[in-house]
Amino acid sequence: MKVIDGKALAASLRAEIAKGVEELKTAKSVTPGLAVILVGDNPASVSYVTAKEKACREAGMASREVRLPADTPEADLLALVRELNADPAVHGILVQLPLPKHIGEKNVIDAIAPEKDVDGFTPVNVGRMMIGEECFLPCTPHGIVKLIEFSGMDIAGKHAVVIGRSNIVGKPVAALLSRKETNATVTLCHTGTRDLAHFTRQADIVVVAAGRAGTLTGDMLKPGATVIDVGVNRIEDPSRPRGYRLVGDADFDSCAAVAGAITPVPGGVGPMTITMLLWNTLEAARRSAR
Ligand code: NAD
Repeated sequence: MKVIDGKALAASLRAEIAKGVEELKTAKSVTPGLAVILVGDNPASVSYVTAKEKACREAGMASREVRLPADTPEADLLALVRELNADPAVHGILVQLPLPKHIGEKNVIDAIAPEKDVDGFTPVNVGRMMIGEECFLPCTPHGIVKLIEFSGMDIAGKHAVVIGRSNIVGKPVAALLSRKETNATVTLCHTGTRDLAHFTRQADIVVVAAGRAGTLTGDMLKPGATVIDVGVNRIEDPSRPRGYRLVGDADFDSCAAVAGAITPVPGGVGPMTITMLLWNTLEAARRSAR
């Protein structure tokens, strides 16, 4: 059984990205710039945003951090997005979700210029991905495909079962795995699926993005299957200084006993999400310099 090391893959891709950044600076005098907007102080969001900004600087990119109070009116946030859309030093715009309830997430995402939508969340990017046009692939799903390839598996012809149908993970993962380039046969499972284990036991690849610890257990797997665990769940743990630990959606021990390969949480999908964000930001800067 192989533990798929997302940190190692992320480190090698980030070194490649940093090289690309240097080349762009030298050849075109362009420094890729990412604007990261955080509204409010949700602790999980603060830690995600801090990690993204740090990764950005480490790759040699310019990071513009905009932190706004939780009661920021939607109109002010929209005006800020438009300002960043027009700023030539900003190649990528990321609005950390979730937003406070009084702000319409859809309105904000729709306001981001598609050529700066490095999260790949705007309807224009999603549509382009679905029809195979040039776009920014959404970061977590793109990272998941890279992780499966890195594990040494040839995805073509395999049966992949995706658990979860969110717009940011489940649906785009299913779309990417079924593209001609990857060529998997995909089954998309969700809360309306009857007998989840019936499907997962047929899978060569299981991607679990349900947001619930223990969604996938070893008895639900075919021996030798590859498991990509996207979930991030906080479990109370008084023995830890923070009082909790992070676990995925798969029960690691029972799945590892049956699987051929599995991603850990933390250290699997998480580092890849940020890496693919840097990848898209570099690509956005390259396109602007063409
Ligand atoms: P979501 O809550 O929007 O969607 C979860 C989906 O899972 C839903 O479509 C639901 O139908 C399905 N689901 C839930 N329980 C199920 C069950 N028992 N059987 C079948 N389907 C079930 O969540 P999301 O935004 O897609 O995120 C999923 C998880 O991935 C969360 O834990 C989130 O924190 C994590 N996540 C991690 C990263 C990362 O970079 N590591 C990025 C995004 C999300």
